[in-house]
Amino acid sequence: MSGGARPTYLAFDIGGTKVASGFVTLPASAGETPVVTGRCAIPTEAARGGDDLKGRIVALAVRQLESAAAEGMTIAGIGIAAAGVPDSETGVIVSATDILPGWKGQRIYDAFAEVTDLPVRMIGDVGAHGLGEASYGAGRGKGVVLSIGVGTGIGGAIVVDGELFAGAHGVAGHAGHVPSALGRGFLCSCGTYEGHIEPVASGTGLKDLYNRRREEMCTGSAAAAAEIDGDVPELVQSGADMASRAAAGEPLACAVLADSARALGECIGGMGNLVDPDVIVVSGSVVKAGPIWWDALRAGFEESALALVKPTPLVEGELGGDAPLIGAAAAVDRYVQSR
Ligand SMILES: [Zn+2]
Repeated sequence: MSGGARPTYLAFDIGGTKVASGFVTLPASAGETPVVTGRCAIPTEAARGGDDLKGRIVALAVRQLESAAAEGMTIAGIGIAAAGVPDSETGVIVSATDILPGWKGQRIYDAFAEVTDLPVRMIGDVGAHGLGEASYGAGRGKGVVLSIGVGTGIGGAIVVDGELFAGAHGVAGHAGHVPSALGRGFLCSCGTYEGHIEPVASGTGLKDLYNRRREEMCTGSAAAAAEIDGDVPELVQSGADMASRAAAGEPLACAVLADSARALGECIGGMGNLVDPDVIVVSGSVVKAGPIWWDALRAGFEESALALVKPTPLVEGELGGDAPLIGAAAAVDRYVQSR
């Protein structure tokens, strides 16, 4: 790194299946893209428990810092994007789902302090994704950014002037758990059957909505049968499977994809009315579902957005899988600058 360059941070993205790490060099201006190097990952192996996971993350940090030192890199701090609900002040995981048994209660800052004196900052992984896109991706230069991630689940983040809006309990931005009539009768990851958007609009939700409609065709539901001509298709195994059938023109898949995206768009319109963002960034695996999905999403959004909110740009994220690492680096950078 040359003299005037911005600092390099060691970043982690702790998820349910893997822990990704890399060195993130932030650019001198927000118009440039951060550079991520030294990418590596270890499997989360959640069943081994929270203590074991924490120990392996710290061991990975030690290896990464050693390799940085060997290459003459100076690391200015450590940023962590963590699954669950972390407390950024104390470094404690205050809540986590059954996907990560024993993760709740882990004291992450204390564990890092045993191996390094570097400043460490931890935020939630969905928030990190939003902060990354807001700071250096599709939302850069904008004051208020609403970020929506549509993948295995649905999450979101509200970023105001480069700062995550966390809410009173660190729960702000849980975009998957807003009401939608389409979700009624589908079990949401939060435990309700009352009708949240996540269980019918996430990747998993697309699969479940399709297979439910298909079942209704098989049992001769007149309403469903009326929409579809011809033979009953096979079950789908994933949201991606569903999207590729829609791309191939299968009528049931096209109808389900459009209904799901429209309902999600209506929810995002409602969130837009509440937050009044400068831009809405949508990312995650489902945004690759194609024009049927995007057209229906925009139609649903325009239907529920207020007149002043309707023109708000609804754009695809730009940072891809690096967004949480970049957001984690942005969080520790802000922390270091403020000290
Ligand atoms: Zn829910």
